[in-house]
Amino acid sequence: SKSTWTIEDSLKELEQLAETAGAKIVATVTQKKDRPDMALFFGKGKIQEISMLIQETNANMIVFDDELSPSQQRNIELMLGIKVLDRTALILDIFAQRARSHEGKLQVELAQLRYALPRISGQGLVLSRLGGGIGTRGPGETKMEVDRRHIRSKINDIEKQIEAIKKQRQLHRENRESSNISTVALVGYTNSGKSTLLNALTGSDVFAEDKLFATLDPTTRQVTLSTNQKVLITDTVGFIQKLPHHLVSAFRATLEEVQSADLLLHVIDSSQINYKQQMDSVVTVLRELKTADKPTLNVFNKIDNLNDDDTLKTMLTTPDSIGISAKQNMNLDLLKTKIEEYFAGKNVNLELLIP
Ligand code: GDP
Repeated sequence: SKSTWTIEDSLKELEQLAETAGAKIVATVTQKKDRPDMALFFGKGKIQEISMLIQETNANMIVFDDELSPSQQRNIELMLGIKVLDRTALILDIFAQRARSHEGKLQVELAQLRYALPRISGQGLVLSRLGGGIGTRGPGETKMEVDRRHIRSKINDIEKQIEAIKKQRQLHRENRESSNISTVALVGYTNSGKSTLLNALTGSDVFAEDKLFATLDPTTRQVTLSTNQKVLITDTVGFIQKLPHHLVSAFRATLEEVQSADLLLHVIDSSQINYKQQMDSVVTVLRELKTADKPTLNVFNKIDNLNDDDTLKTMLTTPDSIGISAKQNMNLDLLKTKIEEYFAGKNVNLELLIP
């Protein structure tokens, strides 16, 4: 539950995120302070300590776990002379690398522009990509105002495009529903093995790697069950514990797939000590989507990594649970059977399955 999510956990996740973005962590700093400093976030002493660390380690970037105000970000950057990111900017960077569908890319760009808008300084640093060379600068207007205006119109433009795609997707979904094809959505914490499971179930090649956010866009594949029934299985974005709230809209596309699914497979990395915490954070997101009541199978993945039978037994006391290994192809037929039983309208009673 929430109370067990510590600063250390949060920093650990931040480190993983930074590594996913391609950074190498050379030092971690925390401060005990009731309230962050208005101007610099850190106190003066801490800033000095960090400044020395930067010299020692040759770090060229600092990532904050908390959200910084635009002015704090700028002040720290000027003070320390290195690039400053907060959690949101880091996640946006990863999204930008990972988005694959047209819609996903637009969503990320929109989030980036919204993030950039209040952060434009007189130098227009943030905007070199957008502002340059357009030549619409009015007389007497500052660069900053021009940049802001460009961003706003770009935001408008992207919002319209996304709206159009959304209508199209809605049509596709209605077609799917009228053709009576059932859908299953894979949900689960980032890195739990959703892409791998989708590959294993469908024999397709969805990109999987041992990094956070291997999956950003919904990817849908068809599976034929032994009953000859066809179901669509959709992979969804990796859930993380501390997702800045205003970034949730960047997930909209995949989240809507979750809302329209008939059945959810909650994929859990059983080899994680804090797997319960990860399950909780997924359920929290599902609750926000008002999908927490959907029929769900809890799929404990990576059981090939477990050398402790008792742990697995404990996990499988969770209702509607199954233990599998997507990678080692363990219990996948059984999982398919469970899906079949669900769609056959049987009273799905998932007994404890210990391999
Ligand atoms: P996603 O972020 O949930 O889509 O996770 P991925 O499918 O990208 O998998 C994350 C990592 O876990 C990859 O390195 C996979 O090879 C690995 N993985 C997935 N399933 C298993 C499994 O059953 N056993 C083991 N040992 N590793 C797995």
